[in-house]
Parts: sequence; C-alpha cells; structure tokens
Amino acid sequence: MSNLEYDVIVAGGGPSGIAAAVASARNGAKTLLIERYGFLGGAGTAMMVNPWMTYSAGPKQIIYGVLQELIDGMSDLGMYGHPKQKTAFDPEALKYVAEHLCLDAGVELLYHTFLGGVKSDENNRYIKSVQVANKAGIMEFKAKVFVDTTGDADLAGLAGAEVEKGRAVDSLSQPMTLNFRMANVDIDRIPSREEMTELYIEAKKRGELKCPRENILWFYANQEGVIHFNQTRVIKKDATNPWDLTAAEIEAREQVQELVVFLKKYVRGFEDSYLQTTAPQIGVRESRRVMGEYKLTADELLAACKFDDVVALGSYPVDIHNPAGEGTIIQNLKPGEWYDIPYRSLIPKDLDNLIVGGRPISATHEAHSALRVQPIAMAIGQAAGTAAAVCATQGLLPREVDVKLIQKSLLEQGAYLGPQFETEKV
Ligand SMILES: Cc1cc2nc3c(=O)[nH]c(=O)nc-3n(C[C@H](O)[C@H](O)[C@H](O)COP(=O)(O)OP(=O)(O)OC[C@H]3O[C@@H](n4cnc5c(N)ncnc54)[C@H](O)[C@@H]3O)c2cc1C
Repeated sequence: MSNLEYDVIVAGGGPSGIAAAVASARNGAKTLLIERYGFLGGAGTAMMVNPWMTYSAGPKQIIYGVLQELIDGMSDLGMYGHPKQKTAFDPEALKYVAEHLCLDAGVELLYHTFLGGVKSDENNRYIKSVQVANKAGIMEFKAKVFVDTTGDADLAGLAGAEVEKGRAVDSLSQPMTLNFRMANVDIDRIPSREEMTELYIEAKKRGELKCPRENILWFYANQEGVIHFNQTRVIKKDATNPWDLTAAEIEAREQVQELVVFLKKYVRGFEDSYLQTTAPQIGVRESRRVMGEYKLTADELLAACKFDDVVALGSYPVDIHNPAGEGTIIQNLKPGEWYDIPYRSLIPKDLDNLIVGGRPISATHEAHSALRVQPIAMAIGQAAGTAAAVCATQGLLPREVDVKLIQKSLLEQGAYLGPQFETEKV
C-alpha cells in the first residue's frame, strides 16, 4: 500500500478503461486502473451486455487497436463469435483476456475499489488526488493526469465538471435494462423475432407483462442452448441517483420474472428452459455527459463528419430507446459511411488534467446514443489513455498536447483513423 502516486490513474475498467489503461502503460506511463468490481469488462461483463455492436462501415472494419487484441484473445480461447451472431462474446473470456492485456502492458490493477472523492486545487481546475473506498478503508491516490472511464463520468462529476443528463426537453435519460439469459432452450424450434414479438404483444394486452418495451429483443449467446435477452425497460430513473438505481434493480427483476413465465408458457422452444442468470447489475445506457471543448451532434455523425483531430471512428447509428415509454428511434448513416470522433470532445472545458473516455464524452443526447456502444467506447478509451500518457510523460496538459503525437501513437498501436493515415500505418 506504499504506492500512492502514479503518472496516470484510469477510473473504471470497462471497454474504454481497459483500452485506456493498456494504451497509457504501453506509452510509458506508470498507470493505475481502479475498478469497483473484481473483474474487468464493464457493461460487457457486469451488465452482461452482448453482442458487440458493429465496428465496421459496410464491409470495411474501422476499429482495431485494443478491440482487435481482445477479439484475437477471445478467438484463441474459442469464445468469440457464434454462427448466427458474429460478434457475440463470452463474458468470462472478456474478463480473462482483458485482465491479461492489462497485466502484460504493465498496468497496476486495483479491484474492489470505488472512486468516491476528488481533491482539486483552489481554482477547481486541476485534480490533485482521488479518494476511493475499499476493504482497507478510504485511500487517496495522486496522479499527473486522470482518465474518467466510469461510464457515468463519476470522476468528472465529483471534480465539478459541467455535465448534462438525458435529452434536452426534460433531462430524461435512455431506459435502464437488466439483461438476462435463458438456458436449455431448444434453439432450432424457437420462433422468429417477429413471431415472438406478436406473442409478447398479446401477453401485454392480457396484462401479463408490464415491461414498457414495444418488442422482444434477443440475441444468440456463445453457449449451446442459451438465449440472451436485452429486454427489460426501466424508465424515468437517474442512474447517478443511488435510490433510483436501487428502485430500477427491483423493478427490472420483477419484469424478468414475468418474462420468464411468459417465455416458458407461450414461446415454442422455451418450454423446458430456465433462467440461467441475470446480470450482476442493471445496464445503464445513459447518465452524465461531460461538456467538453467540442460537443458532437447527431447531425454531424449522420453526415459522416470528419475532423482534423480525429482520434476514434464509429459507424453505429443513432439508437434511442424511448426514455419515457415504448418506442426506439434508429437513424442510420449511409451504407459504408463512418464518423470521426475529435480529440476535443474528450477534454472537459473546465478541468485541466482530466480526459474522458467511453460513453460520457462531450456530445448531445442523440449523438451519445450512437457513440456509446462498446467497440467505439474502446477506441475512445485507447485515445484517452494514449493522450494521458503523452501528457504525463512530457509534462503537458491534455489541452496543450499536439494531437498529431496522439494520432501517431494510436497508429503505432495498430489503431485505424481513416484512409488519410493509411500511409503512416506501421
Ligand atoms: C442494456 C444495455 C444494452 C446495450 N447494448 C449494447 C450492445 O448490444 N452492444 C454494444 O456494443 N453496446 C451496447 N450497449 C452500450 C455499451 O455497453 C456501453 O455504452 C459501453 O460499455 C460503455 O463503455 P464504457 O467503458 O464507457 O463504460 P462501462 O462499460 O459502463 O464501464 C465503466 C466501468 O467503470 C466502473 N465504475 C463505474 N463507476 C465506478 C466508480 N465510481 N468507481 C470504480 N469503478 C467504477 C464500472 O464497474 C465499469 O467496469 C448497451 C448498454 C446497455 C446498458
């Protein structure tokens, strides 16, 4: 417990935090990764979110880097992909492979540790240390640069950064969802998604289901006879309010029980199935978004915007699960198109030594609904960790660094930033 000072502290070990920590350590920074659970993976493990959404634009893969290393590692274990669900992954494989990527890169891991406090300078712009709670009590760690990959922007919020929540009209965020899995399903007999949705709507009309979602959303999992449901919907709750979060868990678990009864009673192939597991925690799609040097909009993403300070790419559509009830809005990019994510969107406008990775970067509610998915979160995280290490080792603030240095390092790490960089790829 003597080691309390680091070059870079990464808070949160989800998709973006894994990539950030690996990139930071590989760029020569003494890096600590703090995670509240006893494993990595974030939403991919703790919220059991599956499969990975697209990392291609048309046939062209546009996200590589740490994402590709995780794919390769899980594929080597035979735990990535399913004949009918190309990007399904086994959460146990993600935990194991991500952990070894971090350890091999030289990241110091600290599990079972919850970030709960920040000490800043007198101007509230420069973070001096973070306070965490764990089995040792309250601990304090110092770093030159901090990376917030908590998904909820806990670190930025505690440091007093300007944040937004939810949609502009009423601040309501996208619904939360407790994912669950049914096992011993006779996969070959199950009805199509459309047929299952018809049965679901009938059961809702009979008052047997209270889930405020319009259809049934399920995916194939990696294990034989297992179907993954991304189905429950808890609306009008704030995931950064612990009372709301508790109420959401309870409400979602009720919905799961009703859905299990429905599936076993009415849906072909589920007669002998059973509830294999619910996720360790309810899935949070949206909470805080940090207002940064540049705020991305959905119009820009849908127009496949390009930026000189690009540090990550994405192609996932605008995908808004109705924050107030039934319905989901999907707006696609033109086939084969992708958007750039600029470095400025990772830099909080009112803090000097914090970089945001993953879903809470500076964006509108609508733009966030697109860039929040795991592969993009990883690409953003890798950029955030790279930038943090460059700053920490060169004595620069994130706002001051020449973005070309970050782009160069990302390319050297195997990331893809668009065709304009292809000749520079090593
Ligand atoms: C229900 C649901 C369905 C989704 N469907 C898909 C899908 O099908 N495919 C897809 O690709 N994406 C999907 N997404 C989106 C995606 O999973 C997330 O947006 C993505 O994981 C964000 O990555 P992140 O690293 O920013 O945050 P997270 O994955 O949330 O990781 C944050 C990490 O920080 C840790 N942490 C948080 N707070 C603290 C703290 N105070 N102290 C210490 N540690 C902390 C967490 O435990 C976690 O490990 C879905 C999300 C949800 C909720």
